[in-house]
Amino acid sequence: MADLLRPRPPESLLETVGEPLFVPAPEIIEWARASFIEEGAPLYNEEHAHLNFASIGALWTNVGNSRQGRTIVGQCELGQPRAMMGKWPKARAEMQLLGWFGEIPDFVLTFDAHYSEQCSDAEWAALCEHELLHAGQEKDKFGAPKFRQDGRPAFAIRPHDVQEFTSIVRRYGADAAHVREFVDAANAGPEIANVRIAQACGTCMLRAA
Ligand SMILES: [Zn+2]
Repeated sequence: MADLLRPRPPESLLETVGEPLFVPAPEIIEWARASFIEEGAPLYNEEHAHLNFASIGALWTNVGNSRQGRTIVGQCELGQPRAMMGKWPKARAEMQLLGWFGEIPDFVLTFDAHYSEQCSDAEWAALCEHELLHAGQEKDKFGAPKFRQDGRPAFAIRPHDVQEFTSIVRRYGADAAHVREFVDAANAGPEIANVRIAQACGTCMLRAA
């Protein structure tokens, strides 16, 4: 099994102020594959099965991000820069990706270095897996996974399962709000207890020993 030590952002990145930095982080993907994606992984989730066929690039950044008053600490995007950017900006973005990853990855994940450094192991695992879940596969109208002509999965950004107002759930209930599955999952309690998170994290294992 791969080295499961939780990936940490480089110190030089954390110490740099006033200069925007993005640093490629293959160690994040190595950790994510060994923790969640590969068969037999300690926190294995079959919903990531298509990612065995995906190339994923990851970045640490010291650039803060927020939207509508919420802090953003992680993001998942399709790797291929879009044509609507214009020819030169698109080619420039491709050049940047090739420099970082040696290829245009199917997905690019970005993580806030300062948050990732100070969050708990469970928070890190939840953040990392959250971004991986955005790295989805298209489905046909029958709900079956779609593939491209070359036989590779048709990768796409997967939206959150639940987008609803608390008020609607409170006033009309989980079924009317179509969040029954979500509520049932919450009521069932976490499948990944802190104990299992600790098993995926070398730092915790050292502490326990
Ligand atoms: Zn999200």
